[in-house]
Amino acid sequence: MQQLRMIEERLNQQPDKQLSLTDPDARSMATSGRGTGMVGYNVQAAVDTKHHLIAAHEVTNVGHDRTQLSNIAFKAQEAMQENTLGVVADRGYFKGPEILACEQAGIETYVPKPMTSNSKAEGRYSKLDFIYLAQDNEYQCPAGQRLTYRHSTREEGMKIDVYWTSACKTCPQKMQCTTGKERRVRRWEHEDVLDAMQRRLDSTPGKMKERRCTVEHVFGTLKFWMGSTHFLMKSLPHVGTEMSLHVLAYNLRRVVNILGVAETIKAIRLVGA
Ligand code: SF4
Repeated sequence: MQQLRMIEERLNQQPDKQLSLTDPDARSMATSGRGTGMVGYNVQAAVDTKHHLIAAHEVTNVGHDRTQLSNIAFKAQEAMQENTLGVVADRGYFKGPEILACEQAGIETYVPKPMTSNSKAEGRYSKLDFIYLAQDNEYQCPAGQRLTYRHSTREEGMKIDVYWTSACKTCPQKMQCTTGKERRVRRWEHEDVLDAMQRRLDSTPGKMKERRCTVEHVFGTLKFWMGSTHFLMKSLPHVGTEMSLHVLAYNLRRVVNILGVAETIKAIRLVGA
């Protein structure tokens, strides 16, 4: 009990209230299973769709991917020396400011929206059922009413505009729409960037399959090589170095597969010259 109390004390001193006794830098990582987690690291990788080479990678101990998109996309942009780039990522990377940062740097993003709408889950209209009319800065609802701009709020540093209509009170579709006094629709000030991305995703339905076949192939291969325990090192800098070696080995093998041994050696000599 005494030992556990000491651990509790140490745990409470941690800024993120997490304490890993095996590896001090390891943190709880969100997994796809609901309510499950795994203590470890978060490896980010940008893989090129043509050759399946790892253009950029990074090891973090942040337990989710929401704040990682622009960081790894910028690294890939720099490594590939491309001013314009298309980046495909899964729903876990969806975060407005991250997508905006990419767009502003000339990186075209393809990130599907997470399905977190309570209304839709409860059988009511979701935000997708409301059409934004840019010329009037209003939303049109499924009953054909116009939701006008009312006020703005700030959430996590983002300016959010709020829209509603007083027609909700007498609306025959109210039960399918809201449990409140009126249905309110919220719009981020840069939401046009997200709308444009959604239109790109809708017009290129194969993009997410392309992502799966690209990055999952690389992660599958690396995990297979690493074995079931994955990292052998402890602490963030050492795990980072271990991962860099894996990436170097992976890319070398890929290049040898693509160019052959003789051409690879020639290319390495050219780079070194
Ligand atoms: S409840 Fe309001 S927002 Fe919803 S459909 Fe009716 S009028 Fe439109």
